Amino acid sequence: MSEPSAEDKAVIAEQITTLAQAISAFRPASDAEQAELRALGQRFEALVQVLQWAQVLAPHHLQFMQQLRPAVANRRVRLGVVADKHAVANAEVDCASIISICKMRCCRALDIELSRQDLADGLRWEIEAPYLLARDAHGCCYLGEAGCTVYERRPATCRSYDCRQDDRIWLDFERRILAP
Ligand code: SF4
Ligand code: SF4
Repeated sequence: MSEPSAEDKAVIAEQITTLAQAISAFRPASDAEQAELRALGQRFEALVQVLQWAQVLAPHHLQFMQQLRPAVANRRVRLGVVADKHAVANAEVDCASIISICKMRCCRALDIELSRQDLADGLRWEIEAPYLLARDAHGCCYLGEAGCTVYERRPATCRSYDCRQDDRIWLDFERRILAP
């Protein structure tokens, strides 16, 4: 088999770059898809190494793949599966009587997964971590002085969350001792 021409090498390099960008942009929606993406990324990296060894690709293509590696390892879309949050039962926690102690720590500290319904409702999500509820320096971006500013549209997790046994919130809920 004859060595590829300079034009052929340029076409292969362009195809490899396009494929790498497609892999990088893909957002798996499940652990299974994440595992497939990781395996695909490894096979693709091996192919790039072979093409580099055959002098079809230049060293910077391998560097590009190395930059891609963490992206392939960490990409995961988190999308809640609750179809109708309005049908979700509220947790049996009397938040109103406890908020002066907890200072709404749940809203400040926890990541909340959004559903398709939340996205349709216009709730904002983290650009870097789709589709977790957007946060600012104080926690949830919808947390106001007096509590939730999107109460009617709040996600299913906010409705059903029960903090009583959550050691990220309480050392002892019954004695109202917060976790450090
Ligand atoms: S769920 Fe718990 S931490 Fe959150 S506001 Fe209610 S009492 Fe406070
Ligand atoms: S949406 Fe409302 S209830 Fe849910 S975390 Fe944000 S402020 Fe809290």
